[in-house]
Amino acid sequence: MEGAVSSCIFCQIACSSTSTTLLHKDNRIVAFQDINPSAFRHYLVVTIEHIPTVKDLKRRSEDFLLVSHMLNVGQNLVQRDAPHAKKYRFGFHQPPFNSVNHLHLHCFALPFIPRWKCVKYLSLGSVGGFIEANKLLERIKPLSPL
Ligand SMILES: [Zn+2]
Ligand SMILES: [Zn+2]
Repeated sequence: MEGAVSSCIFCQIACSSTSTTLLHKDNRIVAFQDINPSAFRHYLVVTIEHIPTVKDLKRRSEDFLLVSHMLNVGQNLVQRDAPHAKKYRFGFHQPPFNSVNHLHLHCFALPFIPRWKCVKYLSLGSVGGFIEANKLLERIKPLSPL
């Protein structure tokens, strides 16, 4: 597949060369369950294109629309599968706190299980850490109307 990085696990999943069950697939993104879930529901939404991290996203409509689409799909999936969850969270790890260098949105229906897992998804302010999807969208929202 064009643009895919053969050593990248998320590229392999995105082009369906693994046995991972895809919960969603379209021409821009795929979604699947995290292999090591940290919450009652924990899904990942991954771009098909190999974009390494949030740092590679720019303030432009193309990137803004891509992240909006990731968030929409993720919200629909967790709300469908965990309609009674008390809280949902959606966000990205910022380097150097990301585990896989391929853009992926973490989607949670809480609680975290076990509870201490929440520390992996703390915002560390200017240091980085975890960034909520809405915050990222604000950061890359184009200044001129879409
Ligand atoms: Zn990749
Ligand atoms: Zn991550």
